[in-house]
Amino acid sequence: MIEQNISVTPDTKAIWLIISGDKIFQKADNSDLIVGSWETLHFAHHYQEQIIQVGSHENLPCFLIDMGSECIENYDYTLVGIRTLLFQVDVSFFSIISRAWQVALFIRTHRFCGQCGSVMQQIDWEMALQCSRCQHRCYPRISPCIIVSIRHEDTILLAQGKPQRARQMFSTLAGFVESGETLEQAVHREVFEEVGIKVKNLRYFSSQPWPFPHSLMVGFLADFDSGNIQVDGKEILQAEWFDPKALPNIPPTGSISGQLIQHTLKEIEHDAELEINQKN
Ligand SMILES: [Zn+2]
Repeated sequence: MIEQNISVTPDTKAIWLIISGDKIFQKADNSDLIVGSWETLHFAHHYQEQIIQVGSHENLPCFLIDMGSECIENYDYTLVGIRTLLFQVDVSFFSIISRAWQVALFIRTHRFCGQCGSVMQQIDWEMALQCSRCQHRCYPRISPCIIVSIRHEDTILLAQGKPQRARQMFSTLAGFVESGETLEQAVHREVFEEVGIKVKNLRYFSSQPWPFPHSLMVGFLADFDSGNIQVDGKEILQAEWFDPKALPNIPPTGSISGQLIQHTLKEIEHDAELEINQKN
């Protein structure tokens, strides 16, 4: 999927994912990402030896060029935050952009060997960096993170963490998986640590790469088992059982948290209809 040492000619046509700092170049006049031939991208030409293919989209290769911290002033192009693109492009294309960002970040942060301090070099048969001296090899970091939607009869648990306070947003609970832990154990531990309740009937939902900076969100659905909500006050500031008819501000469905919430709301609605039909 990831191909390195790509050779381009002036008329090579591609989608160019050119990253500078933590932003990506797009066209200044219409906010589209850069699609076109290599010869038009003069400002990127001295990165010709560092082009990496990170996928294809609509029959065009997607090429990554990482400029690191170099800033370019070019009135034809402007820089946009990667997170902003989540709401501008479709899910499959965003996953390619997210891969580009993670590969760029990986290469930037693994210039030297963690074992002996020598210079790391890219190998050409897989996406990895290898130490020129002791052969220690590193791969792009992926940090698994569980995310869970919890239902209690006809209500859903939504919580507000510190980063969500400014936007008055409530969402599902989430947390990183610790070393030596299964995904299921991580769900039970995180839920108990953050809101003090126990859950049961854990079901896998789906997953989503989340490149901020390198998480893989693994989504679950669960039912309330026992306990009273007691927030930890550190990661979670507020948590409540919400009626689907009186929801707070929730995340959009582009994110897995939004999808988990919508799924749980549909299940609650479905069960309520079933109950009405049975009574009639
Ligand atoms: Zn080494």
